[in-house]
Amino acid sequence: MNNKTIKGFSLNGTERFHPGDADAVKKNTSIVEMEMPELKEGEILAETLYTAICGSDVSACLSKPNFDWIERPRVIGHETSAKVLKLGPGYRGKLKPGDLFIPVAQLGCQKEDCPGCRSGKWNLCPDKTILGYHRNGAFGQQMVLEADRAVPFIEGLDPVFGAIVEPLSVVVNAIYSKCNIKPGMDVLVTGCGIMGLMAAELARAAGARVAITGIEQDWNVRLKAARERGIITVVVSPKNPLLSLLEKGIRDQDGRTFGAKGKVDLLIECSGIPQVLAEAICAVRPEHDVCLIATYPSKVELDATHITRQSLNIKGVMGSHKDNFLVAQKLLVQKVFPAEHYINLYEFENINQAFADSIKAQTTKAVVKMN
Ligand SMILES: [Zn+2]
Ligand SMILES: [Zn+2]
Repeated sequence: MNNKTIKGFSLNGTERFHPGDADAVKKNTSIVEMEMPELKEGEILAETLYTAICGSDVSACLSKPNFDWIERPRVIGHETSAKVLKLGPGYRGKLKPGDLFIPVAQLGCQKEDCPGCRSGKWNLCPDKTILGYHRNGAFGQQMVLEADRAVPFIEGLDPVFGAIVEPLSVVVNAIYSKCNIKPGMDVLVTGCGIMGLMAAELARAAGARVAITGIEQDWNVRLKAARERGIITVVVSPKNPLLSLLEKGIRDQDGRTFGAKGKVDLLIECSGIPQVLAEAICAVRPEHDVCLIATYPSKVELDATHITRQSLNIKGVMGSHKDNFLVAQKLLVQKVFPAEHYINLYEFENINQAFADSIKAQTTKAVVKMN
């Protein structure tokens, strides 16, 4: 079975491209034919069902500096639903061929003396390995991976939605472990990529009133998707910076002002743009929280005295762990996060288009049908 030739989407190049250059994906990547390696102990062979394109996959294809560390060539992809085809030698776990699962993206070293791994939080392990970056991943039609990564499907989960359990699990980690949202809070989400949209949905489900920001080109796709769900949408530009829009008064659907005197109760930063973070922390009320889900292509210059004087709490969220995967699956099955509203499905032969649309922000979440 391992000798079957399958296709994969491989990251090869390291040429830097402008974030708007949709053709960049073809220059740094290629579709390759490959054979799966023999299984080692602890590994499984799986068929990928649906794999989603992550913002970090896009950044890797554009060769942003924060993704320089990925070895090339590499079949990327870490947000996926998959089916067990074969178990490696000596396997004694519960998985059987045919079982559906979601792999955790971040696998810890699982050593006794690792503080992250000891608490079950592989996402905090300094030696973690990420599927699709440290080893070939889910943009192959099959993949070999560590059995320890597999989180079984819960009852009722649609395999298409299974592809977004991983990103949703990160937002679950942020919202329920870091954000402390109370009903009636005004929550500002900066950045309307899928992490921002998911954060906006979960914050609202927790009882907050939510505004999400984007730029002009987001108006018709990403912000539209949020607007259709009753989330306040805000276009920021050099002419209309966030702080002055807030001070002038952003209105909700009922015409009431969002925030108090231009300040909000919580900021969830999902844009990954240094200037956005630097500006947005000034929109947070004293003694309130700033939650960072994004990573940044360069160091961010922050007004640290402002953080002191406003007694702000800045919290980072790195990835997610298995408990978060379980909660994310439940939120999808119970439709707390309405996945069908945000997913755009592509066939595998159109994977370049899926990447190009993601680069141009012409899709909310591109999911590729792998087989
Ligand atoms: Zn991801
Ligand atoms: Zn560890």
